[in-house]
Amino acid sequence: MTKSQRLFEEAVKVVPGGVNSPVRAFGSVGGTPPFIKRARGAYIYDEDENGYLDFVGSWGPMILGHGHADVLNEVHKACEGGLSFGAATAAEVEMAQLICALVPSVEMVRMVNSGTEAVMSAIRTARGFTGRDKIVKFAGCYHGHADGLLVQAGSGVMTAGVPDSLGVPVGCAKDTLSAEYNNLQSVKERFERCGEEIAAVIVEPVAANMGVVPPAPGFLEGLRKVCDRYGALLIFDEVITGFRLGIDGAQGYYGVTPDLTTFGKIIGGGMPVGAYGGRRQIMELVAPLGGVYQAGTLSGNPVAMAAGIAQLTILQEHPDYYEELNRKGDWFFGQIQRLLEEKGKPWQVNHVGSLGCLYFTGRHVGNYQDAKASDTKIFAEYFKHMLAQGIYIAPSQFEAMFLSIAHTQDMLGKALEGIASWLSQQAETE
Ligand SMILES: *Cc1c(COP(=O)(O)O)cnc(C)c1O
Repeated sequence: MTKSQRLFEEAVKVVPGGVNSPVRAFGSVGGTPPFIKRARGAYIYDEDENGYLDFVGSWGPMILGHGHADVLNEVHKACEGGLSFGAATAAEVEMAQLICALVPSVEMVRMVNSGTEAVMSAIRTARGFTGRDKIVKFAGCYHGHADGLLVQAGSGVMTAGVPDSLGVPVGCAKDTLSAEYNNLQSVKERFERCGEEIAAVIVEPVAANMGVVPPAPGFLEGLRKVCDRYGALLIFDEVITGFRLGIDGAQGYYGVTPDLTTFGKIIGGGMPVGAYGGRRQIMELVAPLGGVYQAGTLSGNPVAMAAGIAQLTILQEHPDYYEELNRKGDWFFGQIQRLLEEKGKPWQVNHVGSLGCLYFTGRHVGNYQDAKASDTKIFAEYFKHMLAQGIYIAPSQFEAMFLSIAHTQDMLGKALEGIASWLSQQAETE
């Protein structure tokens, strides 16, 4: 038995499912998860000293690769000064100024400790601002695990095979209207029925929790228009896309301006951080300035701020990194597509910049319904083959592959060889 297997045996006795987030479980692919001990650059290493080329990147944050020297250095320095004060610090001012400077739609920002918290708070703020209760979300979009958002919520929930969650009061979900991604008509219908009651539309500007589904041309612009017509707010959940598609996120990439934006993942450089912000007039409603209550003992934590500021500053100073990431993404996912065509496979590759996904379905994937058509049994075989080749992708069909600055052309080539060898094996067993 490997060390990881032994740890898993111990873990399941004291942690539900042996993992602290269900997306880490191997339930849908079989086997047990490697327990990771350390990481460097594009590689992670498990307790048995197996190295894996990592395409998860802690689900997005590690855009510079693992253990970036400058980030670690800033974290070490911050630790020396103390781990938490629960009082105002200079680092929080610097972080807020940085975010407001990088993302023009954000005039004021509040730091929190996770993406879930950021979204939950942004929605409360939108409800406070509009005096309305209902929100529109899209099937297959994930916005964290707050009660009202666990309605057709994508990846983790989807992989577990539970349509919703137990323990969510009917009253909490009743104000959540679900619409179809990339289908503006479905949004207009919700507004025609009860537009005066809708506080906000929340959307992942690139859906990255049902695999990767890019917005169709005009979709985000159309949401902006509908919201304006009815006086509802548009919230971009940029927990994944923020600082990934470009320094100004998906809103810069697609040129559509939301009223509120939520951040997480990259913004913390690997530490537990989230943030929400937007137009001054709206954010002025947040306590202690206004009547929308939201608080956090560890919010703006000095060590977390140090990691986030360091990572964002490096990204700000290197516009070339985004060109490189997007170019590598275009090449890598394009090569996967080419391999599939060579082998006569109808499967779909979706990608935007450094985010991508391979779906085992012959139908174009433009929404949740399409994504669900993917053959998860084939995915499980593909996953096992890749893991055995030392290539670590998320143990679910419905997650993105994340590239980082540390992924070299050679490394991506190695991953392509892994995919090619699996496709050849497939062809033999057919
Ligand atoms: C990961 C994610 C969240 C939740 O963030 P946590 O830090 O896991 O709470 C919210 N929205 C999107 C789009 C995400 O990808």
